[in-house]
Amino acid sequence: AAMRHLPYFCRGEVVKGFGRGSKELGIPTANFSEQVVESFPSDISTGIYYGWACVGNGDVHKMVLSIGWNPFYKNIKKSVETHIIHTFKEDFYGEILSIVITGYIRPEKNFDSVEALISAIQEDIEEAKRQLDLPEHLKLKEDNFFHLPEGKIVNNH
Ligand code: ADP
Ligand code: MG
Repeated sequence: AAMRHLPYFCRGEVVKGFGRGSKELGIPTANFSEQVVESFPSDISTGIYYGWACVGNGDVHKMVLSIGWNPFYKNIKKSVETHIIHTFKEDFYGEILSIVITGYIRPEKNFDSVEALISAIQEDIEEAKRQLDLPEHLKLKEDNFFHLPEGKIVNNH
């Protein structure tokens, strides 16, 4: 169920999240709006994924992404959050984030401590970097999706 929908292409505005302090942990996550999340296949598995991301017309970077249960909606709706593996000079709320999800790492987990959470995410990031260098994932970095004008969104082409 995790892989069936991949690669998955998605584009939408970056909105304010629910302030779980991702940035304080050194792992900011750009959140998609509820509307964009609703457009995801309803049976896509929650968990940690990886792929490529680009902000506006910027460069395409590696990313890790979490599809999780949204605490703001009492865990009946999903949230989709992208951590781009790149250091940005400024926040980019309100900008258009384009992503392609190419692979799945693991299901959601609960952690006993913040330290355990951070080290799991660091491992996810290392795994994503390795996988994305493999030809089958690397090729999607050059996909026309990242160069198309906004509005021409075609999923799973
Ligand atoms: P929020 O709860 O509002 O999502 P976060 O602490 O998760 O707050 O920070 C996310 C914001 O940080 C993004 O919306 C974006 O503007 C900014 N940001 C800066 N660098 C990155 C990055 N490398 N990946 C994702 N977001 C980033
Ligand atoms: Mg966030």
